[in-house]
Amino acid sequence: MIICTRKELSLERLANHLGIAKELIIDSNGTIELETGIIEANTHIKIPYQSGLKLERSEFVDLMNKPATMVQDDSGHDTILNTKKPYDSKGLFKEIDRLLLMYPFMKKEIIGYSVLGSPIIELTIGRGIKKVHMNGSFHANEWITTSIMMHWLGDYLQALVRGEKFEDLNCLSLYHATTISFVPMVNPDGVDLVLNGLPDQSSFQASVLEINNNSRDFSQWKANIRGIDLNNQYPVNWEIEKERKIPKSPAPRDYPGDAPLTEPEAIALANLVRKRQFDRVLAFHTQGEEIYWGYLRREPEEAENIVNEFERLSGYKAVRDIDSHAGFRDWYVNDWRKPGYTVELGFGVNPLPFSQFDDIYRKSKGIFLAALYM
Ligand SMILES: [Zn+2]
Repeated sequence: MIICTRKELSLERLANHLGIAKELIIDSNGTIELETGIIEANTHIKIPYQSGLKLERSEFVDLMNKPATMVQDDSGHDTILNTKKPYDSKGLFKEIDRLLLMYPFMKKEIIGYSVLGSPIIELTIGRGIKKVHMNGSFHANEWITTSIMMHWLGDYLQALVRGEKFEDLNCLSLYHATTISFVPMVNPDGVDLVLNGLPDQSSFQASVLEINNNSRDFSQWKANIRGIDLNNQYPVNWEIEKERKIPKSPAPRDYPGDAPLTEPEAIALANLVRKRQFDRVLAFHTQGEEIYWGYLRREPEEAENIVNEFERLSGYKAVRDIDSHAGFRDWYVNDWRKPGYTVELGFGVNPLPFSQFDDIYRKSKGIFLAALYM
């Protein structure tokens, strides 16, 4: 949303009038001029969306572009923010663009492109020195992880702008303490294959069908579009997985590739971690209601305190040692010696049905929040 000031006014007064924290207004505009505290007349300013905001009556600001969809339902509940749905890549990109208009203090970066050319998007929120990275849909048929993450995000952003608490936590304090790095869909081509079937690009159709034994049922597909399991692509004991994994050529799941980090999706995440030096990472998968947190005792001591909090809030089971190598988290814990978690959301048979959404969300939202405040 954009407003235009009718007369000179202080940032303080504008923030009070809108009922929005002034740092969110400053960050929405990516400009330090606002920090001086005085906004001149006829200045266009991006502001975060709030339902029920009635600026038309204001004597000192005009609303420039009220979104057509900015409505409330009869009960006064906000209908614009509906992030409870399955996302394919196009649906996700549209939603992200909408959220960026609503919450301009959130930033978007394209960190790489999938094999089929879809952008791999990172969203960042917050001012904190603590940097927490989260990702979802590394595995194609675990696409519900993207939906859960987008719902956390939507609820967090809304609470932040309204100045409300989220599960008793002050979101503005979290905003100051922690910068969230959010990659909700690592494997867009794979997710689209599971949800929508064969890609339009005819050059890939034959190879995908061949990898899938000529079946058009892609519900068990976890890999990227070239049949390489992105979560077996990282350079930490990759040779062990290469040797023991059953597929020796591209497959719907488990094939680690011909070498570590050959796939653009896996490379994009590796480069992001190298560049940002996160303080902790969480990778969301399905299923099992378990949280893996150790790797060959390379994990730091604090990793245990954090996972205990995750366990307490979610009821999920913390598991220190699993016989796994070459995963994104394995690599992160091994190379950075910082806390890294693989969270297996939900319980059942992959792909988990969307009907599990509410149950997964209820149990896991504490993990999202604890990752920020711990
Ligand atoms: Zn997985």
